[in-house]
Amino acid sequence: MDELELHKMTTLRPYVIGLGLRESTTVFGIVDALGNILAKDCVHTTDYPDPTSFVFDICDRLQPMVEKVGGWGNIKAMGIGAASGNNITQRIENAANLSWKGNISLASMFQGRLGIAVSLANDCTVAAMGEMAYGAARGLKDFICVLVNGGMGAGIVLNGLIFMGHKGRVGEVGHVTLYPDGRPCTCGKVGCLESYVSRRGIVQTTLEIMQATDTPSPLRDIAPKALTVEDIARCADEGDPIALQALHETGNTLGHAMTAWASLVSPEAFVLVGEVNSLCGKHMIESILEGLNENMFDALKWSTKVYLSTLRGDEASILYASALAWQTKEYDILL
Ligand SMILES: [Zn+2]
Repeated sequence: MDELELHKMTTLRPYVIGLGLRESTTVFGIVDALGNILAKDCVHTTDYPDPTSFVFDICDRLQPMVEKVGGWGNIKAMGIGAASGNNITQRIENAANLSWKGNISLASMFQGRLGIAVSLANDCTVAAMGEMAYGAARGLKDFICVLVNGGMGAGIVLNGLIFMGHKGRVGEVGHVTLYPDGRPCTCGKVGCLESYVSRRGIVQTTLEIMQATDTPSPLRDIAPKALTVEDIARCADEGDPIALQALHETGNTLGHAMTAWASLVSPEAFVLVGEVNSLCGKHMIESILEGLNENMFDALKWSTKVYLSTLRGDEASILYASALAWQTKEYDILL
């Protein structure tokens, strides 16, 4: 294939596929160069006992979606954002929050089945790419994306470039020990930041506040095992003091952790992303700023902004992964 032919093939492909693999649900869609999602679908990640059945089913679901946009010849590449994704090996490695254990070469499994280039990176890393392309980080050169959902972690951009980390597992801040005698974590340790700042962390904090006080709250009508972050966010929206206290404590804990990250990197901003931040971020942002600056070295106090992403829900996950797809080289597959 000569260079002109290669150029034509690579520039005439107007769409990419973005796939966001999360603990509970996986969302995927076809995206154009302006960030419009032309088609999308979702599955329950937990329905698949192994990654092979997951890949086969999603490929089947993609087929009619791709035909509607003119076939596989119009698809440049596929990007995957995944919890515990390694940016360099492009595998999911020993995910604490997935039922699939060990190392999973999801990108090469999709690539083998679909015949297009497929890249995989950490969900926090692709969130940073997506926020830079479509969201709150447009124009920023130094920032840290803080993703909070079932788990939590960070994506880092320095000098306008994604920081990949020496061995590809950058931003694993969720499993830094915060309290050596704290809550047990899904990773097997105790007292990790993620045990406090995550879906399960917020629920646990809310239950502890309810146990320690007599303050009336509609949250007391919900069985503890059925309590969700959605319930807590809804009650916080209505001014419930228990829900607001839980989110204040969560924000403050996160802010204190961010002091060290800001001191190390001196970013222009933190960008809060992920479902928990979408649901609860507006109630946490002041507490995050307080926590971030309370113990900050004077020369750096109040120098780092905190933005809440405006990209929401499933569409955010698809767009984030699509930003990785646009940066994926297809030459290896074409030649
Ligand atoms: Zn942990």
